[in-house]
Amino acid sequence: MTAPRRLLARLRDLRAHGAAPLSALVRVVSAELVSEVCSVYVQRPGDILELAATEGLNPNAVGRTRLRIGEGIVGLCAATGTVMNLPDAQNHPAFAYRPETGEEPFASMLAVPVRRAGRVLGVLVVQNRTPRHFTADEVDELETVAMLLVDLLPESGATEGSPEGLAGTVPRLFTGTALMGGLAVGPVLLLRGNRAPIRLLADDPRAEQRRLEEAVDRMQRGLDDLFAGIPHSGRPADVTASREVLDAYRLVAADAGWLRRVSEVIRGGVTAEAAVQRVATELHDRMRRIGDAYLRERLADIEDLANRLLTTLIGDGPTGPVPEDAILAARRIGPAELLDWHARGIAGVAIEEASPAGHAAILARALAIPAIGGLRGMLDSIEPGDDAIVDADEAHLILRPEHEVREAYRRVKETRGAKYAGLASLRDKPVVTADGVGLKLMLNIGLALELPQLERTGADGIGLFRTEIAMMARGLITDVAEQASLYARVLDQCGDRPVLFRTLDLGADKLLPGTVSEEENPAMGWRSLRVGLDRPAVLRRQLRGLLLAAGDRDLSVMFPMVATVAEFKAAKALLIAEAKRVRPTPGRLRVGSMLEIPALLWQLPELLKETDFISIGTNDLAQFLYAADRGTPSLYDRYDFLSQPMLDILEQVVATAHAAGVPVSVCGEAAARPLEALVLAALGVTSLSMPASAILPMKSMFAGVELAAFRSVLAAVRRGATGRLREPLATWTRERGILTP
Ligand code: PEP
Ligand code: MG
Repeated sequence: MTAPRRLLARLRDLRAHGAAPLSALVRVVSAELVSEVCSVYVQRPGDILELAATEGLNPNAVGRTRLRIGEGIVGLCAATGTVMNLPDAQNHPAFAYRPETGEEPFASMLAVPVRRAGRVLGVLVVQNRTPRHFTADEVDELETVAMLLVDLLPESGATEGSPEGLAGTVPRLFTGTALMGGLAVGPVLLLRGNRAPIRLLADDPRAEQRRLEEAVDRMQRGLDDLFAGIPHSGRPADVTASREVLDAYRLVAADAGWLRRVSEVIRGGVTAEAAVQRVATELHDRMRRIGDAYLRERLADIEDLANRLLTTLIGDGPTGPVPEDAILAARRIGPAELLDWHARGIAGVAIEEASPAGHAAILARALAIPAIGGLRGMLDSIEPGDDAIVDADEAHLILRPEHEVREAYRRVKETRGAKYAGLASLRDKPVVTADGVGLKLMLNIGLALELPQLERTGADGIGLFRTEIAMMARGLITDVAEQASLYARVLDQCGDRPVLFRTLDLGADKLLPGTVSEEENPAMGWRSLRVGLDRPAVLRRQLRGLLLAAGDRDLSVMFPMVATVAEFKAAKALLIAEAKRVRPTPGRLRVGSMLEIPALLWQLPELLKETDFISIGTNDLAQFLYAADRGTPSLYDRYDFLSQPMLDILEQVVATAHAAGVPVSVCGEAAARPLEALVLAALGVTSLSMPASAILPMKSMFAGVELAAFRSVLAAVRRGATGRLREPLATWTRERGILTP
């Protein structure tokens, strides 16, 4: 029998003879893993870790040695939820010396968190005299023992680290990032909140492997049914929920790599469900350490699949409808799972770990479910029976709202429902302000599944087609034929409405799977058009795809991240050369530049001679203007877009471009925010491009505003001494009912 299986067998014997005390457990682990010390620290109220049992340290320290979460190696392990594997623990900067333990002789240390549903219950530690890294197998074995402790620690009085005295009583407000706007008010449902404890130890690994294979089979069939069940008619939002994201998901489901890892863990002597749970936890840990958003999404898909597999194995999957207006709260959620819950009728979603570019967010938008991500610490505060408000427009989750607050939100929701129904009538109307100024509202999209949004919103066209998104979903740069077929679908769907195709903008936070940026600062690295110009074959392929798709129709192509006029000219030359090779030639070929890098502002006159149009990417422009990373949540609100420097720049660009007869549009996120959009219109921008959900509310807002009056107010506010712009402008619009509070 292998060492881990013998260890597990001995632990099982211990359990079979009544509740195994922790002291017996640490003795067995220390003997079987041949370690001189084995200790268990359990979490106590007040974020304290207390030494609860030890073999090898001074027994008198039990119950006396206490560390705060974050203090010492053990505290750090609990605070970060990560394994600490240190050859020389006492020289680690976080080491906290506790003389009563007598641990001076022990150099190496391996600390593993004991977790249940993402919360740390305690820490399991082994130590040795010899300074060395513990092997991967040893780490594996200790993690398996830590899983066993999940049941034992609560028996020893461990708490789950929720803030003492707060949970369950007072309202709490969490602020995250809006994934899909909207409002939901109702009871909270915890995703996998009532999952039964799982059996850990198994006698026959082969039987467990068979159970795993059967479950994988069942899960795959379940996925086929789920995806096939997505309606092909009915609300366009439902229809659009399907393809690219789920295609990517299918690829992951078919990938054998993570299932091999599950089999490996089974061979160590645990049940199939325990092995799957273990792999899901490992994936979650890896995800937390990966900066690249796209890779994180892929791992999130695998984690989602692992959870589905677990559900299939232990048979506690979601069934039946959920309570009315229920709000689903989750640590993470995968696309298939979100589809399941949508079908069961959830009204809103609150997620601890999700980004606006993630798959869950894409699906939430397609399904029109109000959703917030990045709600750190939320799950620790939720108690059974809690109510909540998802105010996704403000990115707020209000847990246990006061009665009056809940009622106020309910009223807003009712009027909004009526308002949105009213907005549908605006779909086919042109966008005109109360004083007769016409504007164009365009869509930002990147996937064919979003095309039905054109009809749903009555948008004037596509102001930004992000071509890299489809490639990221496919996981590769597709060939000319595949690209041409996608771009042709886009043009077919748009008919006479214009489409601005942007060439590949890969790099920084948008990487193809398998590529890892090694750059110190990828946002300013070798990305986007720089790659296109240095590897012209890829760019040429894309340009050919676009030209073939257009045939003799009009074609507008724009280049992202242009820093110099020379770069723009080089890219344009590639397009013109390619156009000479492809037949038929497009009716009208327009070439534009995005304006995202401030250096271009000082080259405008020269650029305007070369370009047919300009599209301002406010996301990157603001990032580079203020040297503030757009992906860092804590910087999100630090610099206001409505600031003098930004408005001076925009005003100057619009004036210079108008004088040169070159149209300007804005396609960054700022164009989708009502007050920013008003300011842009007042500065003379007549074409704004935004996500679908913003179009109808924006039409309604512009219809109610006298733009000339707003322009005078803007001018006065900009001349004002305070330097504050947002507040007075917001007050003015609110008082006139243009923007609702
Ligand atoms: C922008 O930078 O504003 C923009 C529209 O491009 P992306 O968000 O795709 O970088
Ligand atoms: Mg950009």
